[in-house]
Amino acid sequence: MTNIDPLFATFAALAAGLCIGSFLNVVIHRLPQMLERGWQVQCAELRGEEPAAAPAYNLVVPRSACPACGHRISALENVPIVSWLALRGRCSACKAPISARYPVVELLGGLFAAYAIWRFGVTPKGVSACVLLWTLLALTFIDFDTQYLPDNLTLPLVWAGLLVNLWGTFTPIAAAVIGAVAGYLSLWTIYWLFKLIRGKEGMGYGDFKLLAALGAWLGWQMLPLIVLLSSVVGALIGLALIVFKGRDHTVPLAFGPYLAVAGVIALFWGPPLVALYLP
Ligand SMILES: [Zn+2]
Repeated sequence: MTNIDPLFATFAALAAGLCIGSFLNVVIHRLPQMLERGWQVQCAELRGEEPAAAPAYNLVVPRSACPACGHRISALENVPIVSWLALRGRCSACKAPISARYPVVELLGGLFAAYAIWRFGVTPKGVSACVLLWTLLALTFIDFDTQYLPDNLTLPLVWAGLLVNLWGTFTPIAAAVIGAVAGYLSLWTIYWLFKLIRGKEGMGYGDFKLLAALGAWLGWQMLPLIVLLSSVVGALIGLALIVFKGRDHTVPLAFGPYLAVAGVIALFWGPPLVALYLP
């Protein structure tokens, strides 16, 4: 696949990434609600009640609509970034503001894909890096909104990391398997030590699974770097929140976004950074 012009491939990846970003907005918004609805049905069944009949709600149905007035979003109003700019961030029917987060997620989806393809080419490495980046993007915003990392994103990410490394795409398979196990166990150990010593929880099981996934994709050698980077970023943002917003420092902050950011850094710039501590 060396006959594809790199510049063309990068722009094609940007366009595809913008559209995927648009879909990620749907995932970020709906997946937590789909899980919530599923749990309520299970609870009703456990109580021996007949679950209330509800209209279908998944990643496809119903069509996207304005939360303020119910106006159906047309295909023309759904063009990534362009539509939001053309509508000046407002619903075309009721003029209710549309969050700037939608075009931001679309832009990030596009830029991540473009950079991955530019760096790694139209190769299994480049394409699978896009999948990893998009999943991290969705997980970051879901965790930010709900302080929860859904198993149905983190666990497939673990298996996908092991599969792509069957051919040593990012790291030899042995390093990937050890990375998955060590990623989970390291945060699990910190969690229990923290809980025993301080009597409180600093993170959740979703964080262990996310670090397991990053270990599976990038190899165990990246784990110290990822934990260090995420702690530094987390501490800086936590400090800034306390200083500027007076946020209570006992309130737990979502750790997933920092792990995800550290994972992106490790994906693109990990090897030279790891060479600093592993000869
Ligand atoms: Zn509206």
